[in-house]
Amino acid sequence: MISRAVYRYVSHTIRHVPESGVSYETVCTAAGCGAESGPQENQDSAQQWALRHSGRTGHHLFRRVVSDHAQVTRAE
Ligand SMILES: [Zn+2]
Repeated sequence: MISRAVYRYVSHTIRHVPESGVSYETVCTAAGCGAESGPQENQDSAQQWALRHSGRTGHHLFRRVVSDHAQVTRAE
């Protein structure tokens, strides 16, 4: 018995989905801290959280995460 598989290249595109929004998050990188702003709807809120956290703790290095949604569409 002969098995055969046929593979063909199918083109796909990926694009940002504006209606799904963008979220901004700031994470403290100080050893043992792990505090984070959680997803915010705007960048200023995430940054304000970092400023407040730094003022309270003296931690001064943060990782910023920007997330969006993307949709993959198969070409016809
Ligand atoms: Zn911290």
